[in-house]
Amino acid sequence: MSHEPNSKSVRRIVLPSGRTIDVVKPAAPQPTPAEGLHVCPQCGSHLVQPLEWGEGQDGTWEMTLGCPNCHWLTEDVFSREQVDRFEEQLDDGLADMLSDLRRMTQANMAEDIERFVYALDADLILPEDF
Ligand SMILES: [Zn+2]
Repeated sequence: MSHEPNSKSVRRIVLPSGRTIDVVKPAAPQPTPAEGLHVCPQCGSHLVQPLEWGEGQDGTWEMTLGCPNCHWLTEDVFSREQVDRFEEQLDDGLADMLSDLRRMTQANMAEDIERFVYALDADLILPEDF
């Protein structure tokens, strides 16, 4: 049997009722800087969004992040650098989404035109359709 160092941290939370529960989490439960804050640590989605934010102390930011995919939520303090990178990721994501949308619109139009041409060829479109 190997004796690994304790890689989990236990956080004791006291409920309003007075009961305490131990929440066991992996040693690094927050998104690692390498992954970026836009990556959900629970499901791996790249769509994590800031839900609430406010300036903390010493240039840090307090943010509530949420994953629209699995509804993972976290509230934590992040460094200015992490937040800057997160903002860049959000901009990239938005740009990706817009170009996807453009591609999809074009694909749909091409399909519509094909269908229209086919219908014309097959004499399926008659003057009374207009
Ligand atoms: Zn998720």
